[in-house]
Amino acid sequence: MLHSNRIWSIAEAESPEQLAYQLTRLIFYRCNGFRLGEYVFVNDATGADSAQEYGVLKPDAGGYVQIESYTFSGSTPERALGFIRAVLAGEYDNECYDRIGADRLESPDLHGLCHYCG
Ligand SMILES: [Zn+2]
Repeated sequence: MLHSNRIWSIAEAESPEQLAYQLTRLIFYRCNGFRLGEYVFVNDATGADSAQEYGVLKPDAGGYVQIESYTFSGSTPERALGFIRAVLAGEYDNECYDRIGADRLESPDLHGLCHYCG
């Protein structure tokens, strides 16, 4: 379940391959998220040193619906890429774990520095 008051700074992902590598090999701030096509992957980790778990969001009327979550830090780039491709293929489109308002996702400029990344 997504953190109830976290605001994410969303960057554009270059490609499924690049995103799979980044999320499995690098540690991001808890307010970082990445957009790939219409899907958004947001960091849902509980702590700075805890597992890099990401919620997968899809636009829905007036906001976003969480369709899946995935622990990238326990995966390999190859397995993560398989998951990302399944997301892009729409395999999780009918899932709904949570809903958030569109105002929870910000551009990097709007986001600035919060207490997670400042
Ligand atoms: Zn931040």
